[in-house]
Amino acid sequence: MTLTATPPATDFQSLKTRALDVLHQVFGFDDFRPLQGEVVDALISGNDALVLMPTGGGKSLCYQVPAIVRPGVGLVISPLIALMQDQVTALNQLGVRAAFLNSTLWPEEARDIENALVRGELDLLYCAPERLLQPRMQQLLHQAPLSLFAIDEAHCVSQWGHDFREDYLGLDILEREFSQVPRIALTATADERTRKEIAERLHLQSAGHFVSSFDRPNIQYRIAQKDNANKQLLAFIKEEHQSDCGIVYCLSRNKVEATAKMLSGKGYMALPYHAGLPADIRAAHQERFLREDGVIIVATIAFGMGIDKPDVRFVAHLDLPKSIEAYYQETGRAGRDGAPSNAWMVYGLQDVIKLRQMLEASPGNDHFKRVERQKLDAMLGLCEVTSCRRQSLLRYFGDELEQPCGNCDTCIEPPQTWDGTVAVQKALSCVFRTGQRYGVTYLIDVLRGADNERIRSQGHDKVSTFGIGQDLSTQQWKSVFRQLVAGGYLQADAEGYGALSLTETCRPLLKGEDTVWLRRDPETKRKPKGSASVKRTLVIEDQPAWDSLRARRKALADEQGVPPYVIFHDTTLLEMLERRPKTLEEMGEINGVGAAKLDRYGQAFLEVIATIDVENASAFE
Ligand code: ADP
Ligand code: ZN
Repeated sequence: MTLTATPPATDFQSLKTRALDVLHQVFGFDDFRPLQGEVVDALISGNDALVLMPTGGGKSLCYQVPAIVRPGVGLVISPLIALMQDQVTALNQLGVRAAFLNSTLWPEEARDIENALVRGELDLLYCAPERLLQPRMQQLLHQAPLSLFAIDEAHCVSQWGHDFREDYLGLDILEREFSQVPRIALTATADERTRKEIAERLHLQSAGHFVSSFDRPNIQYRIAQKDNANKQLLAFIKEEHQSDCGIVYCLSRNKVEATAKMLSGKGYMALPYHAGLPADIRAAHQERFLREDGVIIVATIAFGMGIDKPDVRFVAHLDLPKSIEAYYQETGRAGRDGAPSNAWMVYGLQDVIKLRQMLEASPGNDHFKRVERQKLDAMLGLCEVTSCRRQSLLRYFGDELEQPCGNCDTCIEPPQTWDGTVAVQKALSCVFRTGQRYGVTYLIDVLRGADNERIRSQGHDKVSTFGIGQDLSTQQWKSVFRQLVAGGYLQADAEGYGALSLTETCRPLLKGEDTVWLRRDPETKRKPKGSASVKRTLVIEDQPAWDSLRARRKALADEQGVPPYVIFHDTTLLEMLERRPKTLEEMGEINGVGAAKLDRYGQAFLEVIATIDVENASAFE
């Protein structure tokens, strides 16, 4: 059997038409997203491609469509064995001939798939890089008709990233051994250096680069002041995500356990996940998160890598991440399906102090610490920013957003600023007068002139700053101190008590030479008011109808032992709810309902919609 060579030019147009047909018929989508169409064109005309798209951007379609359209088998190289099963299940649901080869298969199963590969009876075959490099697999590939190679998570080839995989380095063999087969490398890791490294190491020098914006417009970013974190979290979930699935991130294992318990106590299905739990419990919790509706995972950052669940409706942070990279990656797990989702965080002075202390106490060398300090500073800057958060976020990744986004807390409700020049002077001077040995609670007591034995015993009721801060509340002073620590004007000692001392940079502030504008923290009780023009979080008008649709989806999923989202995504169910199709034909027009799924599930969901309509009609009688 020969390799599939580049199709002759005359075939290109017909392949292009086929690609659109596949998009409509198989996937049930109306249009390609930006860049998808271009990447598909490149591959079906036999060229290589390097694709950078954010999580949820729609990378898979870029190789799935050409693999189906071009003759031969598309080989997908992915490092995450755990994900292969679900990816293949999802494709099989669409009627695509997909399979995977990995160590979880029985030898006979593997042999069947190998045979199908050689006979070209598959559209897509997933395997891990180490398997691909085995001589046996190489031999099979030389016998098989191949349509393309897709190298997923291509940043794993970068020796400087945290996801480096030795086996990825061997993938340059594809260019030497299969030079006629187009290759596509995909990643969500944005930076220029990694991109160059991928092109070099994978020998993709002549590949077209397709770099999409890293914006995730369906995610609403919100960062609020921490007041009573548990209460704030509960209110947020109750008001906006009552029966949704989400992730809550905490810094420590203890806090993960406590928060999961707290949420369970309030009737939510919340499960803890951290590296200290036995592996089987962790696996069970992850499985329930993937398979069931409305599960909340409370986790340390150990959770998330390789989680492909498309309908995570919120990601909440109860602790501040160490960098914008981490924040963006973690929040990026929300809303892969493109439906409105929330990235919500509360943070306060203690977070700033804790992270700064952890950093200073960490064993790294000076250079390491300097880099980490800069990253933390950028993260704190994002928290304190008074302009559009999305613009700040994207700018950090070298991506400019021309207009404020309208879908972050600072856009929806622009924070006020106030002239804090005098307050800042008072605060800094109080730190100085008391000897730079005290934490923020004590300092605020001194400023507010508290009647307090400890203050008297230290003689601090005699210092000039005693009682000069009665014009501001304790809460307002906390806000001032937080902004001073966040801005690097004050530093907390690394030893643990959080004693604040002055840094070099605070000199002009202390002298009152610079006017200082501070953020006025909005009251914590209110959530941002969405104006009509603002994309809101998922608003379900008809909760019982929504629940019925989801219940049917769950039942169908359970029958086959697959996660509900491989039957239909939330976005598809939402569209059903909105458009209420009455016939199979109308059902087929819904985004995400391709021919195979229409065939298998169309009738079942039409029945649900019919009963909803009957119930609604009888409600008016
Ligand atoms: P990535 O791999 O980039 O994180 P996926 O390939 O998983 O993203 O796609 C994210 C989501 O977007 C999936 O739910 C997918 O079905 C959906 N999607 C992708 N392309 C389109 C499209 N052209 N139209 C509608 N939905 C799409
Ligand atoms: Zn904004």
